[in-house]
Amino acid sequence: MPTFRAPRGTRDLLPPERVGLARLERLAQDLAARYGYHPIETPLFEQSAVFERGIGEVTDVVEKELFLLQPRDEDAERWALRPEPTAGIVRAYVQHGMQTWPQPVKVTMTGSMFRYDRPQAGRYRQFWQFDVEAIGDPGPAVDAEIIELAARFYRDAGLPGVTILLNSIGDGACRPAYVDELTAFYRAHLGELPPAERARLERAPLRLLDSKDARMVALNAVAPQITDRLCDACAAHFAAVRTHLHAVGVDYQLEPHLVRGLDYYTRTAFEVYPAGVSGQQSAIGGGGRYDGLVELLGGRPTPGIGFGLGLDRVLLALGAAGVPATVEPAPVAVVVGSDPADTVARLRIATELRGAGLPVRAELGQRKLGKQLEAAARDGAHFAVILGDDLAGAHVQLRDLEAGTQRAVSVTGLARELERATKSHRHGLATPES
Ligand code: AMP
Repeated sequence: MPTFRAPRGTRDLLPPERVGLARLERLAQDLAARYGYHPIETPLFEQSAVFERGIGEVTDVVEKELFLLQPRDEDAERWALRPEPTAGIVRAYVQHGMQTWPQPVKVTMTGSMFRYDRPQAGRYRQFWQFDVEAIGDPGPAVDAEIIELAARFYRDAGLPGVTILLNSIGDGACRPAYVDELTAFYRAHLGELPPAERARLERAPLRLLDSKDARMVALNAVAPQITDRLCDACAAHFAAVRTHLHAVGVDYQLEPHLVRGLDYYTRTAFEVYPAGVSGQQSAIGGGGRYDGLVELLGGRPTPGIGFGLGLDRVLLALGAAGVPATVEPAPVAVVVGSDPADTVARLRIATELRGAGLPVRAELGQRKLGKQLEAAARDGAHFAVILGDDLAGAHVQLRDLEAGTQRAVSVTGLARELERATKSHRHGLATPES
């Protein structure tokens, strides 16, 4: 047993997994840029009040899962690691007066989130999200644009299919009456409520609708549905979101019980699952509109919408779907030498090639040439640059490890030759040095 281990609920991303995550991060950034989202970065921790107020005190995320930081002195501000990106981004929007920028402000962020949740498969205490936010646009077109962007991300990532669940959860005009009706419904079934849900009933009745407790399933199936009780404005907004989704060919399922785990949502709410998979644990993304959040965090009333996609779970879903893992990029060449002790020459040539922009590994161990070449082939390199036969050091042997051919190349022309050879489909050695 090692003395130290990564903290419970966290994991080390070893190179193969980190490469897979990096691919998703790059995909996320490229896609967001194509849709006009600009990168933003907020701190990994915030005043805990940003989350308490922005997410809602009576939510699992704040009540049970907030990673509070122990202050060093009594009167220090209370901080918490960010459990999700939206509250911090909206805090930044208000702090930097982004209301005066051209609206909407469209930003994207990819990074770690932290929740002090009970760790299990696909539920970590540190996990990665790809997030986009469009602040200052009341929709409905942008709602559809964001959902289409999410759908495209999964498709481009290689997931064979996803299910998008969609709902509208109303706004300040229609939700209060619905919440009253829902509370009355649960009160009438008090005996059937698990104790934890009973305790939350008076403080956050909506939370009961997306409860993770299996005992709530039957009851929730017959609970009143918000979609039947939307005010005219919310109903029109929802209908328009659907029209726009249809226009851009996004399939979805209506899910009237979808309220999302966070308090600040209004109107459009959506959640995404790998095709054929359900259960909150498996959601690979979710988002929605938060028209009250900017005001809640001290800004002028400003509408907003965004999503957070769980990249760890996308990687898991890709694995489950049998999508081949991303391969680490192989070096173009490995520099080896016939004199096991001459690491100076190998390092010097490798350094020059890297300076020319080529991904090159140098064999720096003092082992025999045969072993060095074996290791080069294991690395997946196309070429071995073999030093040593030419005592003047003016030429090296360039060996095509796949074709098994080799020939002398001048050191001065080596970088150019390697570049040309790697660009060529035949890996170039058949074409004469120009
Ligand atoms: P949420 O804000 O809870 O809807 O989270 C957005 C997305 O982040 C979810 O759909 C998941 O894919 C992912 N996610 C949330 N919590 C975790 C966690 N503890 N571990 C891994 N992924 C998570």
